[in-house]
Amino acid sequence: MHHLRIAWPEAFFLFRRPSDNGARIDFPLPRRRSIKDILESLGVPHTEVGFIWVDGEPVDFHFIPEAGHEVVVRPVSAPFDVTKPSRLRPQPLDAVRFVVDVNVGKLAALLRMLGMDTVYSPQLRDRQIASLAEKQRRVVLTKDLMLLKRSAVVYGRFVRSVLPDDQLQEVVAFFGLKEACRPFHRCIRCNDELLVVEKEAILHRLEPKTKKYYQDFKMCKTCDRIYWAGSHREAMKRRIAAINSPFCHTT
Ligand SMILES: [Zn+2]
Repeated sequence: MHHLRIAWPEAFFLFRRPSDNGARIDFPLPRRRSIKDILESLGVPHTEVGFIWVDGEPVDFHFIPEAGHEVVVRPVSAPFDVTKPSRLRPQPLDAVRFVVDVNVGKLAALLRMLGMDTVYSPQLRDRQIASLAEKQRRVVLTKDLMLLKRSAVVYGRFVRSVLPDDQLQEVVAFFGLKEACRPFHRCIRCNDELLVVEKEAILHRLEPKTKKYYQDFKMCKTCDRIYWAGSHREAMKRRIAAINSPFCHTT
């Protein structure tokens, strides 16, 4: 018996569909390999794995299984709190921060709109994204499975949705971010936190209607863009449910 028997959850059919015997994979085991290696060779990035048991005992990604072992894996399930330690991820993040890959690039502005700290540049290569995720303790958002298989990436999400608004909803729901959202707080262009600015100081830059109806303003210290609240906060809440209109205006 030189096989590993892996109970394969339906959530992973997205990455690999077991051929015949339903939700079980018999994995040939000619040499020593970590369970992380084995699962990733079957197509599922370690970032998508929530729990692993071998013969009924919980193990971590470094565990080296032997032929005949019974492996049970479970996906990471929503809401996924990345600030709580777990067997597979004993060093949680102290806050939810993101780094966004170019293949889901539109997510960056949307997440910043919700106040989430989000690094993004279309020039970032996979290696740089992984390194940023490791050094700055960020969650990687991507459609690139190879990127998520890198060991430097501890927290990540293979974004399923296609449309940016759907992707935002997916990420907010998956990481349980509704309470963490702080709209009108971060520059959409720079990711910098906004500073309160006196209306008088920027009066000359405001449109007549903005001047008339709004009193509270903030400004990005990097790019000088002006933001104001008002009805936009309510619009933001609606956008999480059915995202369809911008809620931050700029001059
Ligand atoms: Zn800015």
